[in-house]
Amino acid sequence: MPLVNTKKMLEEAYSGGYAVGAFNISNMETVQGITTACSELRSPAILQVSPGAIRHSSPTYLTKLVEAAIFTYPDLPVVLHLDHGPDFDICKNCIDMGFTSVMIDGSNLSYEENVSLTKSVVDYAHPKGVTVEGELGRISGMEDKISTARNESFYTEPAQAEDFVKKTGVDSLAIAIGTSHGVYKFKGERKAQLRFDILEEIQKRLPKFPIVLHGSSSINPKFIKDINKFGGKIQYASGMPEEILNKLSKTAVCKINIDSDLRLAITAAIRKYLFLDHPCEFDPRGYFGIARKAVEGLVAHKIKEVLGSEDKI
Ligand SMILES: [Zn+2]
Repeated sequence: MPLVNTKKMLEEAYSGGYAVGAFNISNMETVQGITTACSELRSPAILQVSPGAIRHSSPTYLTKLVEAAIFTYPDLPVVLHLDHGPDFDICKNCIDMGFTSVMIDGSNLSYEENVSLTKSVVDYAHPKGVTVEGELGRISGMEDKISTARNESFYTEPAQAEDFVKKTGVDSLAIAIGTSHGVYKFKGERKAQLRFDILEEIQKRLPKFPIVLHGSSSINPKFIKDINKFGGKIQYASGMPEEILNKLSKTAVCKINIDSDLRLAITAAIRKYLFLDHPCEFDPRGYFGIARKAVEGLVAHKIKEVLGSEDKI
């Protein structure tokens, strides 16, 4: 089937009490690993592209790779989504290139500027059948080498979220309730401190409206251990516990973004393959193939243990 937008996919997730995983893609192996796992487990798929991935691979390569994936799995509903679009022009370019969903991230602007920028993207996107995700509040951590310190982050105001959705017409909203981007999520705090009360209040004010959770990788210690055992050096990494994410997947949270966990799974697999098992290997197909398998395994695990999106298509 052709690419779909997030409208029906997230409505079904809301009413079904599960969340759809939004996995970041940057090359052929990530696209293949994610879509293979989703197809095997009959889970809808959101493939998202950050501005950094666009710089790395170009929108042409990424859209063509996704085209190959939907050709390979004709029954799989797939959304191609722009993650953290920083301005109108990038959103417009992605829409013109065939993306079916975009995020406009005006969270670093004043409230009025964020409303006006987000509305301009909605006005361009909706007549073309493209859905739009906005962001309100500021999520801390490191996203695509842009860092927001903990003390510069702030929680989403529920009353403002209600006003924002009404004024802009966005289809989903990323909120800040204490999650954090990157692999060093809760440095110094050692554990997640989430404001479930904010989510509950937003859910009350915006019934049936899909909420998006960013900064939701769990940073499995097994990957960190393998990376460090085979020549890496990643210290003090921590993430969002999977049982908390699983609980959230049954609420208004309908889209859960996962990027860092994929990066760690790939890095751990390649390091182990080259350092331990195949020190003489110089054929990239060997370690890229292992990376693809690692992506597939991680996505299958998330679908079953975190998102609850198995057998939903
Ligand atoms: Zn994000």
